[in-house]
Amino acid sequence: MRTPDIHDLLKTRFGYDEFRPLQAEIIQTVLAGRDALVLMPTGGGKSLCYQLPALCLDGLTLVVSPLIALMKDQVDALRANGVAAAFVNSTVPAQEARQVLTDARAGRLKLLYIAPERLAVPGFSRFLGSVNVSQIAIDEAHCISEWGHDFRPDYRNLRVLRERFPDTPVMALTATATAQVRDDIVEQLAIPKARPFIASFDRQNLTYIVRPKRRAFDALLDLLRQHLDGSAIVYCLSRQNAEDLAADLTNEGIQALPYHAGLEPAVRRTTQEQFIRDEVRVVTATIAFGMGIDKPDVRLIVHYHLPKTLEGYYQETGRAGRDSLPSTCVLFYGASDRHALTGFIEQIEDETERVRAWEKLRQMVRYSELQTCRRVFLLDYFGESSDRPSCDGCDICLSEREEFDATEIAQKILSAIIRTGERFGAAHVIRVLRGSRDRRLLSLGHDRLSVYGIARDFSRPELREIVSLLEHAGLAEQSAGQFATLLVTSKGRDFLRGREPLTLTRVIPAEADAPQPRPGVDHLDYDRDLFGRLRDLRFRLAQARNVPPYVIFGDRTLQEMAHHLPQSRESFSHISGVGRVKLDEFADDFLTVIRDYAESRGLAERPKPPGRRRRDRATRRRGSTYRQTLDLLLSGLSISEVSRRRGITEGTIMSHLERLIADGESLPLERELPPRERLSRIEQAFADAKSWNLTPVRDLLGDDFSYEELRLVRAWLDQQGRMKGKSSDGNAGRPPA
Ligand code: ADP
Ligand code: ZN
Repeated sequence: MRTPDIHDLLKTRFGYDEFRPLQAEIIQTVLAGRDALVLMPTGGGKSLCYQLPALCLDGLTLVVSPLIALMKDQVDALRANGVAAAFVNSTVPAQEARQVLTDARAGRLKLLYIAPERLAVPGFSRFLGSVNVSQIAIDEAHCISEWGHDFRPDYRNLRVLRERFPDTPVMALTATATAQVRDDIVEQLAIPKARPFIASFDRQNLTYIVRPKRRAFDALLDLLRQHLDGSAIVYCLSRQNAEDLAADLTNEGIQALPYHAGLEPAVRRTTQEQFIRDEVRVVTATIAFGMGIDKPDVRLIVHYHLPKTLEGYYQETGRAGRDSLPSTCVLFYGASDRHALTGFIEQIEDETERVRAWEKLRQMVRYSELQTCRRVFLLDYFGESSDRPSCDGCDICLSEREEFDATEIAQKILSAIIRTGERFGAAHVIRVLRGSRDRRLLSLGHDRLSVYGIARDFSRPELREIVSLLEHAGLAEQSAGQFATLLVTSKGRDFLRGREPLTLTRVIPAEADAPQPRPGVDHLDYDRDLFGRLRDLRFRLAQARNVPPYVIFGDRTLQEMAHHLPQSRESFSHISGVGRVKLDEFADDFLTVIRDYAESRGLAERPKPPGRRRRDRATRRRGSTYRQTLDLLLSGLSISEVSRRRGITEGTIMSHLERLIADGESLPLERELPPRERLSRIEQAFADAKSWNLTPVRDLLGDDFSYEELRLVRAWLDQQGRMKGKSSDGNAGRPPA
């Protein structure tokens, strides 16, 4: 069999220009007939690792997945790309299941999804004996291990697959695996030679934010209103919380549905379905929500209550932004939640379990009270060391800091800790400092202490913050264990004795709710208005076809449309996410909306440099239209002469030129450039606008400058940039240095 080019398949079948990290290596490994163990975070792009080889291999790819609810969506998404795929599980009627197996046997299917229990169904074994299986993919492979958090006894049956098909490559995939679970997977599946692929678990596109839990409902409303055009999950502690919150939000005009394990299965299914189909944007949920959710475009995850463990927190936040677009995770942190969890933990009878739960909670609290980068802390906690101390993608790194003289207030706080005997937690010490009439305080006689009421002019949250700054500075610390009491360290005592001035740095919370683009994260300046219209169209098309909207096109694809404004099928096909099949099926509908919009506003297309490999071919091919333009330009003709000679508009010649430059050709543009002084004004404007787009630059310069002129200078700058060693592809939206 000829080896198809996997880059070509990526574009023609899936519509993507480039592989995500590790995907190409993983695909090549299976194609070479080797087993693979794939560890990638949620959203890393695991499915493609077996879906693409499935198209290259002759026989059937068997995909085992425990999540029945997801199979249909996966299969829908594949079919939308013209890939022959099907599933059999307990929800499929017997007649239909038989037909699917017949199709598979006849070689009419490339991928077949099954649930693990299917292997125990009589008759399935016979089926396996009659079909040519060329690849076996085990999704959620951690389910095979008792060490994991999600053990499924049925997964132990998977071993028979290896025995049955000793020469067929097996790919095990998971997003969660400790070294122990990893070893277990390899052993249980009998794939000792599996090549491990471990991707970074750093979710670059997520911004982590912790906010004090004050007037939290109002803050939540604000947040959700800022994210109205995306989906959001709000995690709550209890079923009751989830119910109440959904009702409260709906009252405020934000339609929300609750989801928890106490609801009827049918209700849960409908809620999930409505969420996936964008019919409801907000779900308030307990941790029961998520396992079966494969929605790529969740833009906001809120933890309205403190999670019990960092593991859970990271997994839940991981459901944001699987499509790698910027997304936000906000945790509301307040002492009352901590107390509620403390209450839970006290009820755990088993001593070891209880101690473990304490430790987990302690880490969760540490994370919430951090004064340093949250991402670095998370990665470190999960065993991935980061070489950078900060990230530009958490509230701490995004915040401004201010120094303040804390000498006096620090003395007061530390004295109050000592005077109350170092036997109380922060809440009590703060009550003393603020002169509270709390009954317990009075009965302890703490109103008679000299420190009583000496910090009345500070608010409770202010004092809390300073206490944690003092801990951070090593002057105070919390004892471990159930009733965390505040202690003054020896460094703190030195400070009290020495009377040295003390300067502390406090974070001024950033308005970080709408995440700023971070370097290296997919980000486009797109037309929001048009994006909204394209989304409406997508929604209608999805409803008509009875599939989730993301199956039609992902958000990133719509954003590219709303940025590049493609006007022809050719340029539409360059948009990421548009493969051959979707081009045929959807180009007309979307082009109509885009053309109408662009026309009514007088907007022109901003061509997207096509994917690297395709570009190579088109511009290098002898006799191609690009080649002809190139040859004429190199022979000394000017752009307008080439245009006349070829009978093509200057605009089109310009777009050839841009593409040729993007492909690495060097063109003699100098003679076309405006005079020196004018040129430097344009250059400056590109730098000031921080954008490669013409409109903002034109706005800066005024009517004296034509778009054609700006476009030419942009091309020239691009060429210059490349010659200084910068990469030149995908430069749209990237400002010149
Ligand atoms: P995982 O299973 O690892 O959580 P998925 O396989 O669901 O991740 O992929 C997450 C999203 O990323 C999907 O919307 C998928 O279509 C998209 N994706 C996968 N590979 C690429 C790629 N090479 N380029 C662009 N998008 C991709
Ligand atoms: Zn950070």
